[in-house]
Amino acid sequence: MEGSGVGYLEDAAVAVRDTRIVDVGPTAALLARFAAGEIIDASHHALLPGLIDAHMHTPWAVVRGVAQDVAHWMQKGLSPYARHLHREAALAGAWLNVLEALKAGTTTMGDYATPIEGWADIFAAVGVRAVLTATINALPPGEMAGWRLGDLYPLSDEIGAQSIRAAVDFAAEWHGAENGRISVMYGPQGADMLSLDQLLHIKRLAAVDGLMIHMHVAQGDREIDQMLKRYGKRTPAFLEQIGYLDDQLLAVHLTEATDDETTQIAYSGARMVLCSGSIGIIDGIVPPAVVFRSAGGMVALGSDQAAGNNCNNIFNEMKLTALFNKIKYRDPTVLPAWEVLRMATIEGAQALGMADDIGSIRTGKKADLILVDLNALNLMPVLTEPIRNIVPNLVYAASGHEVDLVMVDGRILVRDGKVIHIDEDAVRAEVQQRAQEVAAAVKRDPQHHDMALLQAMEAGRL
Ligand SMILES: [Zn+2]
Repeated sequence: MEGSGVGYLEDAAVAVRDTRIVDVGPTAALLARFAAGEIIDASHHALLPGLIDAHMHTPWAVVRGVAQDVAHWMQKGLSPYARHLHREAALAGAWLNVLEALKAGTTTMGDYATPIEGWADIFAAVGVRAVLTATINALPPGEMAGWRLGDLYPLSDEIGAQSIRAAVDFAAEWHGAENGRISVMYGPQGADMLSLDQLLHIKRLAAVDGLMIHMHVAQGDREIDQMLKRYGKRTPAFLEQIGYLDDQLLAVHLTEATDDETTQIAYSGARMVLCSGSIGIIDGIVPPAVVFRSAGGMVALGSDQAAGNNCNNIFNEMKLTALFNKIKYRDPTVLPAWEVLRMATIEGAQALGMADDIGSIRTGKKADLILVDLNALNLMPVLTEPIRNIVPNLVYAASGHEVDLVMVDGRILVRDGKVIHIDEDAVRAEVQQRAQEVAAAVKRDPQHHDMALLQAMEAGRL
């Protein structure tokens, strides 16, 4: 992924010492130059930098498949479950999601969640690279399920203040942890979910602590409605006014941003996360990433949450991103394979401000590497000369299950398609039990009655 394309090299080798890449070059030259403790034969494989998922909500994997095909996804799809997502369930979901993503080649995970005890420890234990954002909002827990469409949210200054304190404590504990493998951003959930004073307070904290701000921006007509009612302004103009539009902002979604607003945000230096699968399922919208990129903005890919995507797999996001935008513009040349592969690697790293360390295979960078088995039936045949088909097949034909080795920080975490140091069966058993607990609690809760999924079930359609 060096240069302006994919930086294709054939019959090349990579030397890794401790956590970093120490050389890249022709295999014969590296074999002559280095004495390795272990040599991994990558014949018939594509060696890629680890994939980057810039926006996830891993705890929600505990209720994968319960919130889709529904209007007003947040209120009608997710909120009934939010009321019953107890700590053990959230942790079980995070474990499942982290392993799912890791096995599909994601080495950097930009997770966004309430900072419950034990959450960050999962990323530390699994050994992946993580950019963790503790959700900050001023919404009383459980209130959203009873909130009526069109009403202003019942924001609480006290809850907002507690939420900010929790995020500050979390950052103090985790930013730079695990030899720098874990870093932290500040996460005001949305401009509509905190008071103006609290938004300004977080911006000052971020500047003092040198942390980026990771925020949902113009993420739905619901948000725009709240902003117009509260401030008389749409989100982009409001963020401009309060000093949020700069290169320290990682803006997620931009679902409702117009092309002019999108261009304004890109010109400010802010970065964007595009969640094609999630926003497709939740809103039926293709976010304006093509406009953002053509204005010079950096765009990372994100998988968002499994309750409304419904998987966390960057191979899936690459394909959906290419397809949705071709369809949107009725133009098959939009976002070719090599561009979305760059969004999943080097451009994602740039968007997160981490391109000095990850996103491409270059001497001096962190050894975050994946091997994709090109003998998989769906990736055959492999052509290199005089025609080369590898990158289009990685984007349009791969599913992520072809990843058979994953290395993060120079440490092998997945070998022969298996996570080698974690008991996957224990993770499966725990998430199954916790999901059933949550489902039972939701079913007992009178709020479930207007859930679309239950109606479809009762009608015998699901
Ligand atoms: Zn999100």
